[in-house]
Amino acid sequence: MNPPKKIIIIEDEKDIIFITKNFLITQGYEVYTARSLKEAKDILNSTEPDFVILDLMLPDGDGIEFCQSLREKSNVTILILSARANDIDKILGLGFGADDYMTKPFSLNELAARIQAHLRRMDRLAETVKKDEIISFGKIKIDKKAYSVWVDGELIMMPAKEFELLHFMTEHKNQVFTKSQLLDAVWGYEAYGDENTIAVYMNRLRDKIEENPSQPIYIKTVWGVGYKFSWKE
Ligand code: CA
Repeated sequence: MNPPKKIIIIEDEKDIIFITKNFLITQGYEVYTARSLKEAKDILNSTEPDFVILDLMLPDGDGIEFCQSLREKSNVTILILSARANDIDKILGLGFGADDYMTKPFSLNELAARIQAHLRRMDRLAETVKKDEIISFGKIKIDKKAYSVWVDGELIMMPAKEFELLHFMTEHKNQVFTKSQLLDAVWGYEAYGDENTIAVYMNRLRDKIEENPSQPIYIKTVWGVGYKFSWKE
């Protein structure tokens, strides 16, 4: 038996904490709760969670900034919980490092399904990395186990989803994928189906790995179809 996965709920609404916590415990998770960013930081100092549920409006600050700073240190999956439905596409698309979101009120079963999908994908990734840990494409080195990318010897910070997208494409180099295939492969379920997200992520990857992002040599657009990671041995 594997040890239970750890989830931290950062949320200040007592009812939501209570219901969500108890539900996730019945699903077999080890659950921590924080009612403020300060409490969250204290927990994160001593615990490495597998999954973070983060409310955006907390009594001592803004969840977005917290999300960004957590992402700089960790590749943990972050799901944003917000009442502000309008903001959320922007938040996800623009790269504060969140992996997913739900708007309140939300369904516990849906939350559980998403957590499971994210955790399974992380497990699968961890499995494949054991085989072959560092792969190189010219000046780009990808350490699959450490979720790290180096370009010209410099470590590049990348949120989990960016890394997974790059990783997926390099695993299938020279193969063309449509945006919707990439969404399926990396995000893995349809609820989160905005294909513009892919374009945003591709631009961010190019900014990070290409010498000249407007004339990419690795991440190529195949007009009318999608994208490929181009590499000749
Ligand atoms: Ca709140």
